[in-house]
Amino acid sequence: MQGVLTVISGFSGAGKGTIVKKLVEKYTDYNLSISMTSRKPREGEREGVDYFYTDRENFEKAIADGMLIEYNEYNGNYYGTPRKYVEDKLNSGSNVLLEIEVNGAKNIKRLFPDSVIIFITPPTADELEMRLRKRGTENEETIMKRMAISAKESAEIANYDYIVVNDDLYKCVEDIRHITESAMDQPHRMTEFITGLQNQLAKYAQ
Ligand code: 5GP
Repeated sequence: MQGVLTVISGFSGAGKGTIVKKLVEKYTDYNLSISMTSRKPREGEREGVDYFYTDRENFEKAIADGMLIEYNEYNGNYYGTPRKYVEDKLNSGSNVLLEIEVNGAKNIKRLFPDSVIIFITPPTADELEMRLRKRGTENEETIMKRMAISAKESAEIANYDYIVVNDDLYKCVEDIRHITESAMDQPHRMTEFITGLQNQLAKYAQ
């Protein structure tokens, strides 16, 4: 049986990172995939915790070697999802959580039609800009670039399985958990249970 692949996606600054942190703290059956990136670590970020950091050359080698399920260039840097971790966990029946941008989510849905892709957004564009500023990790130019990327990305929202508005962090985390749990209850993931039930009922068959 395959685990559920839950993809948290949406605008930069929507609060995806905080949501993911809360989700894995509260629900220990999520296996969070750590992405590879060619971006330099921000202050306080750690190798193997936030990302696996590498340079462009090694990233391109990882692409050529088929080590990434998907990758994308975002604001001049590469970001990609390591293949082995995700496939091993899913095949052993464990749930996996990804936090990736919009093109990546689109590619994951194409490759894993059973995945649930969730778009996280603040209630308004003003709020998005304010959150990017409050984060304090980016300069003005990068903030404006990220807002411009968000404007483009907004065209993809309708293609998601779910939208979760990040107004209240607690509610947002619970909403996402419900989505994953509903996916866990889909019949194609419960084949053993169904076979058991059918076997129990067989003696009543006329
Ligand atoms: P940041 O530089 O803020 O850490 O990440 C920039 C964007 O890249 C975010 O929207 C983040 O979700 C996305 N991202 C992180 N890892 C991956 C990945 O493995 N694949 C893709 N496609 N996007 C990613």
